[in-house]
Amino acid sequence: MLDLKKIRADFPILKRQVNGKPLVYFDNAATSQTPQQVIDVIVDYYSNYNANIHRGVHTLSQEATDKYEAARHTIQKHFNAAHAHEIIYTSGTTHSINLVASGFSSLLQKGDEIIVSALEHHSNIVPWQMLCEKTGAILKVIPMNQDGELVMTEYDKLLNENTKLVFVNHISNALGTINPIEEIIEKAHQVGAAVLIDGAQACPHVKPDVQALDVDFYVASAHKMCGPTGVGMLYGKETWLNKLPPYQGGGEMIAEVSFTKTTYAGLPHKFEAGTPNICGGIAFGAAIDYMNAIGFDAIAKYEHELLEYATKALLEIEGLKIYGTAKNKTSVVSFNLEGIHPYDVGTILDKLGIAVRTGHHCAQPIMEYFKIPGTVRASFAFYNTKEEIDTLVSGVKKAKMMLS
Ligand SMILES: *Cc1c(COP(=O)(O)O)cnc(C)c1O
Repeated sequence: MLDLKKIRADFPILKRQVNGKPLVYFDNAATSQTPQQVIDVIVDYYSNYNANIHRGVHTLSQEATDKYEAARHTIQKHFNAAHAHEIIYTSGTTHSINLVASGFSSLLQKGDEIIVSALEHHSNIVPWQMLCEKTGAILKVIPMNQDGELVMTEYDKLLNENTKLVFVNHISNALGTINPIEEIIEKAHQVGAAVLIDGAQACPHVKPDVQALDVDFYVASAHKMCGPTGVGMLYGKETWLNKLPPYQGGGEMIAEVSFTKTTYAGLPHKFEAGTPNICGGIAFGAAIDYMNAIGFDAIAKYEHELLEYATKALLEIEGLKIYGTAKNKTSVVSFNLEGIHPYDVGTILDKLGIAVRTGHHCAQPIMEYFKIPGTVRASFAFYNTKEEIDTLVSGVKKAKMMLS
């Protein structure tokens, strides 16, 4: 059982008022809130040991380097990677995906096939389209059904000896669907294809084990799991990271530079050109420690309760339709009121202090599938409560009255 009172006290922002009402923060799928324990780490960095890493012999630089590398080990342990150098710091999921997509442009040929799913965030679609334009590879799409689940029999048909890469999100940010990534990975490997899993939306809810999954690449952002924005990670199997060329040239990623030839640094530095988000990396580690102290089993169980509670209460509102009714889903409820634009609902909810997301959630193909302009999306975290859901439900009722 979670101690909600104690947990909520960790998040200073939850004491805020918005438009004269207590904040109800239900936009967790866009970014999570930050506990005092992580804020303290950020303040400590800038107050006590702000310095550039890896290069300095002075004390501050050593301290910053030690903490930054210790956080890499925290991330490694959390995702159960075999080696710390298989964890590459990035600015987030989008950067991680672009790094891999860019690397594959030297490994793919015309006629090769790569597979994406219909449930993806734009950041897991556009880089691959750019890759196809560059290489002549062909992009195929695993379709979804009315519940927002991937049609796995269609996936089977797409796989063949030309398939080189499959990239699917672990959990859909727009609908909350948990995808069967174990099966997706196993079947891709049977035809010799590599797999990248976009874990941006999964990592706030579950603790992935990259070795048990046998996944080739797994990517995430710190800011969706209680960490700061502008930092994230790419896990890659050592063999794959050695095969990919560097993404950016610059300082930190070289072994030796002359004007005739430059040799690259080993992993992970080969992919970490320039001064990174040092404080962000250290705070990412602190965020992982914070979430593990609460416990992912307890988090998942409680969030599931919130999901069931909200689903039931919202469906009692006449004319409300929920998009994304997969059997396996996390605490995301995407919905619309009949005949009312989601933006208008969101605006009224904001007046009541309730933060939800409205729009296409960077997943326009999903909206196109349902033939809607967007949805209202309420996404719950472990620090939310059933009372807050009651506030949402009465807010939606009020919006319906005002707008219909
Ligand atoms: C948020 C999100 C992204 C993008 O993450 P950034 O931190 O903005 O790079 C990608 N995929 C999914 C599923 C997401 O939820």
